[in-house]
This record gives sequence, structure tokens and C-alpha cells, in this order.
Amino acid sequence: MIEEEEHQEEAFRDRIATVEEDGSRKWIFPKKPSGRFYNYRKIVSYVLLIFLFAAPHIKVGGEQLLLFNVIERKFVIFGKIFWPQDLYLFAIAFVIGIVSIILFTIIYGRLFCGWVCPQTIFMEMVFRRIEYWIEGDWTRQKKLAAAPWNGEKIRKRLLKHTIFWLISFLIANTFLAYIIGSDELWSIQTGTFSEHYGGFIAIVIFTTVFYMVFSRLREQVCTTICPYGRLQGVLLDPNSMVVAYDHVRGEKEEGRAKFRKNEDRAATGKGDCIDCHQCVNVCPTGIDIRNGTQLECVNCTACIDECDHMMDAVGLEKGLIRFVSENGIKNGTRFQWTRRVKAYTALLIALMGVLIVLLVTRSDFEAKILRQRGTTHHVTKEGNIGNIFEINLTNKTKEKFNVELKTEDSDAKIDVVVDSLILKGGGEMKERFVMSVPINRLKNGKVDIDVIVYGNGKEIERVRARMIGPLI
Ligand code: SF4
Ligand code: SF4
Repeated sequence: MIEEEEHQEEAFRDRIATVEEDGSRKWIFPKKPSGRFYNYRKIVSYVLLIFLFAAPHIKVGGEQLLLFNVIERKFVIFGKIFWPQDLYLFAIAFVIGIVSIILFTIIYGRLFCGWVCPQTIFMEMVFRRIEYWIEGDWTRQKKLAAAPWNGEKIRKRLLKHTIFWLISFLIANTFLAYIIGSDELWSIQTGTFSEHYGGFIAIVIFTTVFYMVFSRLREQVCTTICPYGRLQGVLLDPNSMVVAYDHVRGEKEEGRAKFRKNEDRAATGKGDCIDCHQCVNVCPTGIDIRNGTQLECVNCTACIDECDHMMDAVGLEKGLIRFVSENGIKNGTRFQWTRRVKAYTALLIALMGVLIVLLVTRSDFEAKILRQRGTTHHVTKEGNIGNIFEINLTNKTKEKFNVELKTEDSDAKIDVVVDSLILKGGGEMKERFVMSVPINRLKNGKVDIDVIVYGNGKEIERVRARMIGPLI
């Protein structure tokens, strides 16, 4: 019997909490959380959910607040349009994101997962709460799962899964609004199937995926699929703040033990952990935090609340499970600026500085002028030296422009090959033109001339072009 108990206690070393000994999945029925941290999480979740659902429907300067249209390669961030030409900005922003995650994780552990990640927010604050509402708390859910398929079970399951499907449908539509834009989504929603069958199929596929994730996969996303969770082992160190069990206080000399009424815990030498298992019951990933920091812990803080309730009930000090580092537990040390944290902070500040400079100096247009490949110079009918150029013009705004090419150099003349140059909103234009200057302007066979690009009568770019001619 004792051997069996020891075997169970050590099982966390052999397999994750959601896997049975035979390899099958162990379904988790977490206890409904309550307490201080859970209330804070609710507030954070509601704010984030409102933002998530509202953002694709908010317009800034005629553009969606946030749009990630990978199909048309158009991105809008807080109303500002970014095109594939701005890829370098995204690359830097991506590196900043990675460094921030590393830095944040080194200091605060996996707090992002439990408090900000959409997977946890939807799972714990939307789907799980509906489940508690329909099926009751964990013990009643367990009973219902074990019960035969009777009228009550069918009614509850049908209601739950119908609501799950409807919410998944809402999430799928919101997800698509971020990808294709809310206007395009609206035209799919109000159009006929034959006009938008691709859009309809996408909605059904995404709805099914979200439904499966939140009704079946659940915590498996965090414990076995998400790569961020896998990184914890290399990112956390003894100074990282994580949700942790104070094993020094919880175990003391005699170890944890059940609480006996009116006992003087301090006199017995037993630890403050009363082995009530409530921290395990409430855990959405099914782990026992008393076994130390584990990859499956998403730092949701539900076990802190639950343990605090128990400490209150038996008259012991709260905070047996708390947000603390390993060194904090062992030596009482507070957060320390280690060399690793300093290095990442410096890198992050430098990268953010670069990104800010690039964003501030980013222009709405990009123009490049190159001599037509394979050409050198020619003599025009006026007897001047002419060069054929090609202009590449990128428009990062959504406005359409009638383009004119001019120069302030009174000797130089520009002749465009076509009648009118049109630059579409968010588009590119590639056109040839001839620029000529009198031969006496050349020095050592070359001269630089500024070409001014006008869009709808206003100067939008100024580019220097090098003309070549004979050495005289
Ligand atoms: S151990 Fe605690 S903080 Fe970690 S996932 Fe479980 S309940 Fe949340
Ligand atoms: S909730 Fe607290 S007292 Fe109860 S088992 Fe967990 S750590 Fe021990």
C-alpha cells in the first residue's frame, strides 16, 4: 500500500499529468477557481476579450485598427498600413517579440500563458465557465461523465456543445476579420454561397478547428503542442519568479500532513501544507505544484487562491503557494538583476530604439531610379546627352496618384515614355524615362541630377540619378 502511494507520488517523473499509465488520455476536471487572483484574471480577460472582438471593427482613418492580410500581403497596425516593402520592420518587430518573451520569461516565468494567452483566456474564462454553468463544479462534472446516457446527460451535453459551437463560430469569424478584413467578411456573411464559397468553407473549417481545440484538445495545447511551453526548461533559472510551492515552509522537518483540529502545527514540526490536495484539484493542467516547477504549469495562479483559502481555514499564514523564485524560497532573496537579464534588457532596448527610428523615418513612398539595364548613353536630336532610366515607385498609402517627374536643374530635361503615370494605392509602378543634359554639364563623363517625383501635384519623393556620357 505504502509502495503504491510512493509510486503514485513519483508518477510525475515518468509521465505528464494528463496521461494514464497505459498511455491513454486522462481527462482533467479542474475545480472551479475562486479568489483574489481569479478575480483579477477575470478583469484582465474581459478587457482583452472586448479588445479582441472589437479591434477588427474599429476604423482609424478609414483603415481597420488591426489587419493581418497575409493573402494580399497588407498589414494594418493601429490604422497605419504596412506593405511587403516594410518586411524589414516586421523582421525587427519579430526579433523584439522573441527577445521580450525571453526576457519576460526569465523574470516572470510563464505568466503570459495564464493571464494573456488567447488559448487560456478562451479556455478558462469562456468555455470552462460555460461548462461550470451547465454541468456544475468538478465533482458533478465527473459524475456526469461517468453516468450512462440518460435524458439529463443528453440535454446538458447537447446544450454545452451547441453553445461551444456557436462561440467557436464567433471566434472563427473574428479570426477571419483579422485576416481578410471585416468589410470582406461582411460581404461573405451577407452574400450567396456561390459567390463566396471559399469564404464559407473557411468559416466552417475554422469553426471546427476552434471547437475541437476548446472542447477536446484543451490543456493539451499548452502542455504538449505550444512551443513556448517547451522553452521553459532553458529560459527559467533559480531567480525566475514563478508560481511556486514554498517547500521549506510546507514540508519543514516532518513533512506535510493532514490537519488535525486544534493541533499546534508549529509544535509538531510538521510543514504548513495540510495535504488537502485542493491545489491539485483546481489545476487546469492537472499537475501537483508541490512537485516543483513543471513545464505544464501555465502560471494561472488558481492554486495560489485555493491554497490561500485553505490556509485561512486552518488559521495559517497565506502564501504557501505564491509568486516567488526558487532562490526566494530557499534564501529569501528578492528578484536580482543577473548578467543574463541585463544583457537581454540591453539588447531589447537597442532593438526597440532601432525600430522606433525606422518607424519615425519611414516614408509613405519609396522611389528607386536605375539606368536601364544594358544601356549607356545616346545623343538626343537636340544634340544633348541622354540616358534611359527606369523608376520603381512604391506607394504605401491607399491613395491613387497621377505621377509627374520633374527636375529643378534648368539644363536637364525629362521625357516620359507613356502619356500618364498612374500609381495605385498600395501599389507599385515601374516606368522608363529619358533624361538629357547638354554635354558640357558632364564632368569626368558623369553628372548627378535630382529627379523630383510629384504625386497629384505635390512633391512626394526626391531621388538622385547619375547620368553618364562620353569622357571629354
Ligand atoms: S500549478 Fe497552479 S499556476 Fe500552475 S497551472 Fe496549475 S493551478 Fe495554474
Ligand atoms: S492547497 Fe496548499 S495546503 Fe492544500 S495541499 Fe496544496 S499546498 Fe498543501
